[in-house]
Amino acid sequence: MLILMKIGATAAQIDEVCSIIRARGVEPLVLPGEPRQAVGIPSSLSQDQRIDLESALGRLDSVSKVTQTSSPFKLASREFHPTPTHVTVKNVTFGADDFVILGGPCSVESYEQFRASADLMLASGATVLRGGAFKPRTSPYAFQGLQLEGLKIIKQVGEETGLVTITEVMAADMVETVAEHADILQIGARSMQNFPLLIEAGKSGRPVFLKRGPSATIDEFLLASEYVLNQGNPNVILCERGVIALDKTYTRNTLDLNAVPVLKELSHLPVVVDPSHGTGHARYVAPLAKAALVAGADGLMIEMHPDPREALSDGSQALDPDQFATLMTELKVLSGYVGRKI
Ligand code: PEP
Ligand code: MN
Repeated sequence: MLILMKIGATAAQIDEVCSIIRARGVEPLVLPGEPRQAVGIPSSLSQDQRIDLESALGRLDSVSKVTQTSSPFKLASREFHPTPTHVTVKNVTFGADDFVILGGPCSVESYEQFRASADLMLASGATVLRGGAFKPRTSPYAFQGLQLEGLKIIKQVGEETGLVTITEVMAADMVETVAEHADILQIGARSMQNFPLLIEAGKSGRPVFLKRGPSATIDEFLLASEYVLNQGNPNVILCERGVIALDKTYTRNTLDLNAVPVLKELSHLPVVVDPSHGTGHARYVAPLAKAALVAGADGLMIEMHPDPREALSDGSQALDPDQFATLMTELKVLSGYVGRKI
């Protein structure tokens, strides 16, 4: 439910609305806005509660309108938060004018490999360094990541270069440890509906980079973000990384670029696209990366490797240093046409 206040409603009048809501055992959320403020009720209400609140609030002079929200997600929705959310991590802001590039290898493999990747990021203008320490692999026999040693490398390289760092956290009880070593917590596609993990990431207050599950609908994706947001953590970045492909012959997943304008319309959260997992092949990454920028994404997550042939995971989709540098040059030119900065 959304209570739109009249233009010029005073703080005391908003307090009055909040106390009427609280008196019914429901927590209100004050939504600042220009020229009109609003009060939202994120929780689901019973029919009786709705009717009771509608009549209690509709009677007030300060209230312009009481409406039912149409979406199942509340805190993530534009209705509750009409202006875009900016998520700032050190010197990087997602969701504003900057088009943010998160680049780096699929897995952290050694200090040398990760530091070389970081230097390539710095040279090309990417601002966030990615690398997995805990890897969600389909096979338990595949490389699982350097784990704690990988986290230490991420922290060291982040400190040496000043780049913002991001890495995946796979389990709720690892949130604290991962947050001690990296700036942004990545929740992988396979974990999108690991609700205890989402709650713990929410409680940490750290920026959360939430990847869309391979078969998740848009509503399921936004409801997953709601688990983080309703822990009082507004720093959520959504990432479209491809959904299950109808035809896996040519691409690993199907990058759902429809999701970009749809998510931007439904939600105020920043949206990043990952064309590496979205396609699974290095040669398709650049065209989809450019399409994502033009479609209105707020950034890109791109896998690159100093020597993709030697990569311990996802080598076939990793750009080599030249391919990465070329793509960055093209993106910088293109960003000017769509009013973004890299
Ligand atoms: C990754 O970013 O390396 C990764 C495992 O991504 P996803 O969760 O999208 O498969
Ligand atoms: Mn990967």
